[in-house]
Amino acid sequence: MQRADLEALQLQRLRQAVKRAGALPFYKDKLAQKSITPESITSLDILKDLPMTTKADLRDNYPLGFMGVPRTEIARYQGTSGTTGKPTWVAYTKQDVINWSNLCARFLVAGGLRQEHTVQLAFGFGLFTGGFGLHFGIEQVGAAIIPISSGNSDRQLMCMQDLQPDALICTPSYALKLMDIVQEGSVDRSKITLKHAYFGGEPWTESMRTRIEEGLQIRCWNNYGLAEIQGPGVSGECAYRNGMHFQEDQFLFEVIDPQTLERVPDGERGEIVITPIVREGFPLLRYRTRDIGFIYNDGDCPCGRTTRRMSRILGRTDDMLIIRGVNVFPSQIETALLKMDSVAPHYMIEVSRPKSLDEITVHIEIKPEMFSDSMTEMQSIKKEIATVILSVTGLHMNVNLVSPNTLERFEGKSRRVIDHRKLDD
Ligand code: ADP
Ligand code: ZN
Repeated sequence: MQRADLEALQLQRLRQAVKRAGALPFYKDKLAQKSITPESITSLDILKDLPMTTKADLRDNYPLGFMGVPRTEIARYQGTSGTTGKPTWVAYTKQDVINWSNLCARFLVAGGLRQEHTVQLAFGFGLFTGGFGLHFGIEQVGAAIIPISSGNSDRQLMCMQDLQPDALICTPSYALKLMDIVQEGSVDRSKITLKHAYFGGEPWTESMRTRIEEGLQIRCWNNYGLAEIQGPGVSGECAYRNGMHFQEDQFLFEVIDPQTLERVPDGERGEIVITPIVREGFPLLRYRTRDIGFIYNDGDCPCGRTTRRMSRILGRTDDMLIIRGVNVFPSQIETALLKMDSVAPHYMIEVSRPKSLDEITVHIEIKPEMFSDSMTEMQSIKKEIATVILSVTGLHMNVNLVSPNTLERFEGKSRRVIDHRKLDD
């Protein structure tokens, strides 16, 4: 669609979205106070005046305070993985489920998936949106699905050799785990016919992409989504891999300064805020994702899509580490580490405050071939790593080299930061 047509469609859909949200107690008064009604909306500029929604608001209205239709019209419930406490329940109407499948199909096709392909879907099937979201997306493309779900790496690799899928879908950290097993040599590589993979669900870096692409001889695409907004399919890369195209006909995107809540210009980092404009079951306005990224301002994408593109997720407002007053994101450390040939892409960041000063220790697996009995050699690798980390983050960190295959591997989302400070506070 040309931008002008797209914006006209967005405006019309935003009115509907405000109508649906306005029926919920949470938004009703907030909209009334500003005299905003669906009819009063004549420009997309109104977006900045609409009320925002936070994760805390969802919790305060637990379990289903944001449900937009009578229960009888709900077709599906999903939930966030809820690492702490209760999950956030999300409800979908039949139409929402159809839209969701289409949006997943779009980014799969954008990356090259076609009807003749076979996909190994290694996301968990359950409340987590990854499994069922992608399942129906693949079905929409018409490709064959192997719904193997997450976990059981031996079985995953057996399936990969025996059914010979063309594509793999999982978290990047799980792909890393599978790659390690392949590289250990117990798998017949000639039987692995994977050509591409779609990764999402957790942050990863460009260096991680290079490692996986070289290790498995495939091409990998990034896609983004979150349960509160739908699940996967909110944005995804095209063949040019120059950012993830926002699915702007179904969502409005903003990037804000999380402190001032003002919108920041394209190209500048901030918190991504999303307004779904066709969703019925769970109508949210301006949901604050806590994900940090920026919108590219380098013009149109050569692929021909007119939608804007977002950067990788560079961190989360809630996983940013503040170390001795300096802001550090785990992704920065990952980028630094993966620049080095000596280390394996497995690491764990441990933060503590032994006295009054923060201390960071990065535990890193070194590659088997680099492992040595020579103390001096190990010391020099350590020093080299600390210098690279210092240059990327501006901070001195302790480096702890560990033997190959000793750090935890992940089958779903990885957890690479242990912050002891929070426990003490
Ligand atoms: P939760 O993990 O909170 O239970 P979800 O399972 O819906 O909820 O996960 C959504 C979150 O996962 C996003 O807000 C984002 O932080 C992260 N995420 C999803 N896809 C990506 C991606 N491609 N890159 C980085 N982070 C991602
Ligand atoms: Zn493109």
